[in-house]
Amino acid sequence: MAITPNEVRLCQALREEDNHKANVMKEIIRLENIRRDFTVGNEIVHALRGVSFTIQEGEFVTIMGASGSGKSTLLNILGCLDTPTSGEYYLDGVSVRTMGKNARATLRNRKIGFVFQNYNLLAKTTAIENVELPLMYNPSFSASARRQSAIQALEAVGLGDRMNHKSNQMSGGQMQRVAIARALVNNPALLLADEATGNLDTRTSFDILVLFQQLHAQGNTIIFVTHNPEIADYCSRNIVLKDGRVVSDTYNDNILSAAEALALLPVNDD
Ligand code: ADP
Ligand code: MG
Repeated sequence: MAITPNEVRLCQALREEDNHKANVMKEIIRLENIRRDFTVGNEIVHALRGVSFTIQEGEFVTIMGASGSGKSTLLNILGCLDTPTSGEYYLDGVSVRTMGKNARATLRNRKIGFVFQNYNLLAKTTAIENVELPLMYNPSFSASARRQSAIQALEAVGLGDRMNHKSNQMSGGQMQRVAIARALVNNPALLLADEATGNLDTRTSFDILVLFQQLHAQGNTIIFVTHNPEIADYCSRNIVLKDGRVVSDTYNDNILSAAEALALLPVNDD
């Protein structure tokens, strides 16, 4: 049977659309029925009871839930710091379960940037040295490339003028910026934040949220674990856990601007 020019055109259009989808939708995370049990004495605690979701490149996701709902357990698994009791986790297409400890550590170092509530910076160490740290484990970076990347990362978080300040000479907001620069320096596929604004006053929290929104706008994939429901308004998607299960997973069509919220805050808030 002959194919008409019109059908050829239609096939071409469909193929182009598929290519387009493949280009714009890159899956960074795939969780399939993740369970994590902890044995405590004679009892088994089911911290995660079958969690499944996928996250595409460029999403800014909050993970919320009451204390004990499994947020930290999930974050540890996403960050390759812990392995599930059962289920599959694919990070950027790689099955984490099948990897050995060393391979997992390398994957973590190359693919994931962590931002913690307590900054986790080395004290008495300059901003630039703290940011260079993740690159020390990467043999493809020379000393000068390391320095150059650290400078760029610090400039990207607005600390170009604080490179040689030591951690203990900085405010909480500045320390968190250093920590974010350190998380970004490897150009990771995924940025994981655990209560990253939990120790900061309201103004500084919004300041850091502005920075996360800028990173999101530049295409970074971010997962932000928090118990503060307000933060979901500034992100593109919100996943809620309860008793180790996902009970809600919603996309936000009306992402608020953290910069606008910051401008409306009273200046003497702290
Ligand atoms: P969240 O971060 O949401 O507060 P967690 O992930 O820390 O929740 O904890 C989920 C559940 O798993 C809780 O009941 C907690 O007590 C339990 N749990 C977490 N880590 C461990 C562990 N290492 N050993 C035993 N139980 C744990
Ligand atoms: Mg926790």
